[in-house]
Amino acid sequence: MDIEQKLSKLIFHSPLQAIKHPLLTQKQIFLSIKRDDLLHPDVSGNKWRKLKYNLIHAHQSGYQHLLSFGGAYSNHIHALAAACYHLNLKCSAIIRGEAHFANNPTLTDARSWGMDLHFVDRKTYRLREQSDYLLKLQKQFPDALIIPEGGSNKQALLGVAEIVEELFVESQREIDHLFTATGSAGTLSGLINGVKKQQMDTKVHGIAVLKGADYLLDKVQNFINQESTNWYLHSQFHHGGYAKITPELKLFCQTFTQATGVPIEPIYTGKMFYALWQLIEQDYFHKGEHIVALHTGGLQGLAGLKKHNKL
Ligand SMILES: *Cc1c(COP(=O)(O)O)cnc(C)c1O
Repeated sequence: MDIEQKLSKLIFHSPLQAIKHPLLTQKQIFLSIKRDDLLHPDVSGNKWRKLKYNLIHAHQSGYQHLLSFGGAYSNHIHALAAACYHLNLKCSAIIRGEAHFANNPTLTDARSWGMDLHFVDRKTYRLREQSDYLLKLQKQFPDALIIPEGGSNKQALLGVAEIVEELFVESQREIDHLFTATGSAGTLSGLINGVKKQQMDTKVHGIAVLKGADYLLDKVQNFINQESTNWYLHSQFHHGGYAKITPELKLFCQTFTQATGVPIEPIYTGKMFYALWQLIEQDYFHKGEHIVALHTGGLQGLAGLKKHNKL
């Protein structure tokens, strides 16, 4: 079986789901959610989209071993381990933190799929984009293809852009706004490129989940086709910083899921929907507009949050 065939077995269709909610009715806004959390039971969400062309590239270049970086609860590490397991590839990860994290739910899954974990302290982890350090790692793992943290690189953008292609076919209405949660901005950049390619008038919005996210503006600009200007990075909805969870946010996630039946988590998708609800309440959108929110997955992280009594 070739790689494309093997990969297609790993991908399930993610539906576009129309959402009902009193606030949407009151404001006359149409909302649909692209359920990328349902792409695959193990390899969910945007991390899978970002891995696709990295995996194809690895295969075409003859690599049998992938190496990447992440925190102890990383969705990217979880997705990479699952994908490598299903594709029969060796995989290793440089993990920020101490070895006792190896027993948390995320890394327990990763180990069960055969991922080799290498724990490093924060100082070493900070070197993850420096060429000297990467050279040293490449010597230590001579057969490995090294993928950056979060999987965000040029190949990743190609996989994300395919979401827009699907939306273009699936959506009954024109899409006025497309929303995603934003960490490293790979997903936001891929969506911007996808919209451009489909020649849609859709505005693309990223909700930054970390504090002081304006540095991402340059990163997006470097990633995307320069002429795209129909995008926005909202940097005021971080709730105190990455993985910081306020009581309001926690409550919002619960009531959102009760009202819509859509599971979300507070690190990424919760912050995006919280922001979206604020913007709708503030009449940021025009009556009759259609918003599509991308559900980027990340639900595997809920187990770890519950274990640490954060939920
Ligand atoms: C990683 C992640 C994001 C952020 O994606 P970036 O491409 O890094 O901006 C959003 N949602 C979930 C669930 C994620 O795991």
